[in-house]
Amino acid sequence: MICLGIESTAHTFGIGIATNKGKILANALDSFKTKCGGLIPNELAKHHEKVKNEVLQNALQQANVTLKDIGVVAFSQGPGIAPSLLVGLKFAKKIASKVKVPIVGVNHCIAHLEIGKLLTKAKEPVLLYASGANTQIIAYENKKYRIFGETLDQGIGNFIDSFARYIGLGFPGGPKIEKLALNGKKYIELPYVVKGMDVSFSGILTNLKNKYDSKKYAIEDLCFSLQETVFAMLVEVSERAMAHTEKKELLLGGGVACNKRLREMCSIMCNERNAKFFAPENKYLMDNGVNIAWLGILMKKNAVKNYSSIDINPYERTDDVDVAW
Ligand code: AMP
Ligand code: MG
Repeated sequence: MICLGIESTAHTFGIGIATNKGKILANALDSFKTKCGGLIPNELAKHHEKVKNEVLQNALQQANVTLKDIGVVAFSQGPGIAPSLLVGLKFAKKIASKVKVPIVGVNHCIAHLEIGKLLTKAKEPVLLYASGANTQIIAYENKKYRIFGETLDQGIGNFIDSFARYIGLGFPGGPKIEKLALNGKKYIELPYVVKGMDVSFSGILTNLKNKYDSKKYAIEDLCFSLQETVFAMLVEVSERAMAHTEKKELLLGGGVACNKRLREMCSIMCNERNAKFFAPENKYLMDNGVNIAWLGILMKKNAVKNYSSIDINPYERTDDVDVAW
């Protein structure tokens, strides 16, 4: 059985195709980019509308299949930006009705976790999900993926992108900040904000902007200090979740997990506590349709043919979903 998965929670419109055996047949996508400004909801929807047909053709070509070969269509139901999500939902309905197959809505955060398990063979990991809009420490306990810690304000990627935008680097800022940080020599003290198991970034962002405006600091040092501070916060809460749940595996997900320094810090922590560290290839850390297609396969039982009963769920939380697979 083949599943076609549609991702459209935020900046990326992606279509992935995967089999029920976990074979990935296609990963096609087109991401919104901008030199100034951020992710403006209606602009994202316009972008997705524009590229959706081309992305679909590209995916079918990569997989060497036609729509008739698809057994189920999955789409990102949430969490995400509503106008963006709606493009994915409508396209899912259009494709599914053409070939008369059922549709299943899936949770974007859980899709990151399940693709990581499939590709790295991690069995019972704690997931550090560090993406643009989301920052969560997730682990399975009693039929749900529970959130052990999370951001109290913005996601870590949005925080990094906001600072990058402030200093004129454009979107996405993460890779550019990482490059500048490599030339940072001096650690500049920043607020370190861990509250219980949660983290918060907005105060750090204000502090960084003020330091940048004062012109007293080298930009490379600010980027270096930003990374050292906020990554240490993530590693601290991830380690505490691992200690509490007695899990021996850490898995990374989300675009910020492409960052080499974050991966290095996670791997050091895992070594020190005799745990295993896993991260899938970068293309599966970033938002993409394959994650959605694979979770669609796992959740096939939830697929329905009554399309009018399906909707987006922009505020869906990881622990809203019953894990019945
Ligand atoms: P996602 O929302 O999971 O697709 O991830 C997108 C986010 O990942 C954006 O905020 C990017 O700035 C961020 N990102 C991508 N590559 C890196 C990197 N090398 N270091 C830090 N952040 C990154
Ligand atoms: Mg994501």
